[in-house]
Amino acid sequence: MKKILVSQCLYGGCAVRYDGKEKACVHPTFLRWKEEGRLVPVCPEVFGGLSVPRPPAERVGDKVINAEGNDVTDAYIRGAREAVRLAKEHDVAFAIMKEGSPSCGSKRVYDGTFTGNKVSGRGLAVEMLEEAGIKVISEEEIK
Ligand code: SF4
Repeated sequence: MKKILVSQCLYGGCAVRYDGKEKACVHPTFLRWKEEGRLVPVCPEVFGGLSVPRPPAERVGDKVINAEGNDVTDAYIRGAREAVRLAKEHDVAFAIMKEGSPSCGSKRVYDGTFTGNKVSGRGLAVEMLEEAGIKVISEEEIK
């Protein structure tokens, strides 16, 4: 049975989000795949060396900037590379990544103004996964 890469915050059971809060996915299909041991959880931001909690960050062009004005792009790239490495190692069929995140968003991301506004765009890890030929959907598209 092929494996599926998933955002760790959707998988649940361990605090990885910037605010330390849970966002576990409870879609029945997702839970069945989890039970079957098919899911490979990854958190690109934690892989990149960022702490929990951490300041929120948003995409600004090719960069990722946090709410304190620091450029955290290098950490995001490092973590995204590790997510791609694991996707290849497990030969995943596809990936389910958390919508809206500057790493894991596949359709929408925050616009870089820290005002809660979202625009069309992808997170850095999703960009790199798709460049590596891995299909990515969000938790909103599981059905
Ligand atoms: S980087 Fe991805 S997996 Fe990690 S907390 Fe953000 S959305 Fe979830």
